[in-house]
Amino acid sequence: MDAQTIFTTASVMVLANGAILTAMGRELPASLRAAAIHWCLGTLLIAFGCIVFAFGGPMPRPLMLSAANAAFAFGLTVYWIAIRLFLRLEIKARFFLPAVVASGAVVWFSAVMPSFSVRMLVVSVVWAGLMLMCVRDLVDPSRGNSSLARSILGAMFAVVGLYSVARCGFYLFAAPPEDFAVEAGGHWLNVLSALLMTLLPVVGTTAFLLMCSDRLRRGLERAAATDYLTGLPNRRSLAKAGAGAFLDARAGGVEFAVAVFDVDKFKAINDGYGHDAGDRALIHVANRLSGQLRPTDIIARTGGEEFVVLLRELVPGDALAMAERMRAAVERSDFSVDGREVRLTISAGLAVSNAGDADYDSVLRRADDALYRAKENGRNRVEIARDDASPSGEAAGGRLTINDPPAISGEDWSLPDEGPQARPLDGQISR
Ligand code: GH3
Ligand code: MG
Ligand code: MG
Repeated sequence: MDAQTIFTTASVMVLANGAILTAMGRELPASLRAAAIHWCLGTLLIAFGCIVFAFGGPMPRPLMLSAANAAFAFGLTVYWIAIRLFLRLEIKARFFLPAVVASGAVVWFSAVMPSFSVRMLVVSVVWAGLMLMCVRDLVDPSRGNSSLARSILGAMFAVVGLYSVARCGFYLFAAPPEDFAVEAGGHWLNVLSALLMTLLPVVGTTAFLLMCSDRLRRGLERAAATDYLTGLPNRRSLAKAGAGAFLDARAGGVEFAVAVFDVDKFKAINDGYGHDAGDRALIHVANRLSGQLRPTDIIARTGGEEFVVLLRELVPGDALAMAERMRAAVERSDFSVDGREVRLTISAGLAVSNAGDADYDSVLRRADDALYRAKENGRNRVEIARDDASPSGEAAGGRLTINDPPAISGEDWSLPDEGPQARPLDGQISR
């Protein structure tokens, strides 16, 4: 098979490939569309270059060389831009400079001062440089999640880039015959060049689409595991982490504790200030609680105004101290709506895993029961599960010590009848 046949086949395949990508581009979310459009444009430019090489025989030779090489150089540039758009990296006008230089050099060294060697050198350096840029952005682990598709695309660019350097070296140092120009066909190197110029857009487009679908899959997985309002893990992800902690504890690892926090009289905030203010209060509480965590702890928003914290790698007394710190952090924090201060407090129930627990859910249930008592006993306090504490307040097995619970008057929780006022929940809860 000669190079012209390959370029003809290549043109058809690359055009078909570009058409598929154009059709699929409409299905992609807006965040990926710009990258897909650029990839499509790059593919069409490379297809155009292949068409010129395949059917441009009757054209004046300098025109044919200039058109095809410019199409390839700009096509590769637009591929690089597509990759950067996909990775959400900055795009600069100077990215087009190498393609402009390569196109100008081909015009000059084919029409004005014909020189096969210089033309070849400039074009090869520009191609290799552009592909190196693509590889660099694709393989850099700091630029988003890696994936197999991304590695395949990087490898494809690396192969074609290395090939163009090797081909240039071969042309320059192996005393090439006159008919080595790619469009002349015949020589095995030219056949290989044509094959690679076909494979790049075909394999590349498949890999690019797989990168898009991988991004979408990760996004869906993240959304399924995350609470939309606070950005914290949700009940589902916490249950997974809890099950893991339970297995670790069973396997003789460290104990874990579960603390369930519930915002006190939250309905009053919604009723008095509106749902939006309620949402902001939830984000505020989420931030305050998260600020108290150690790297090994996990917090989740598990329901409306309920947060659960999984405390791992405990030493005796840690869990209760942590829960108390978190309660106090919310109580001490400032939260206001339209300049009016609103007091936020939370109640907590705490349970530490023990040999009697059948699974993570049983620890969670005991923490829930303790939370119920915290509400009954006046709110804005931490209660520990009965199994974990002795009647005197000393934790079972010396693991925890219950602080003297705060005295809170439950009757103080009502909002004034006339609606939202400055600090409607404030000053009425004493510790
Ligand atoms: P308690 O001290 O006994 O926990 O009283 P409470 O008012 O906090 O408890 P209750 O269960 O009566 O009210 C919880 C409220 O939380 C009711 C519900 O409308 C509200 N809520 C649930 N999810 C959200 C949310 O995402 N945003 C807002 N703003 N409110 C929510
Ligand atoms: Mg509540
Ligand atoms: Mg609740």
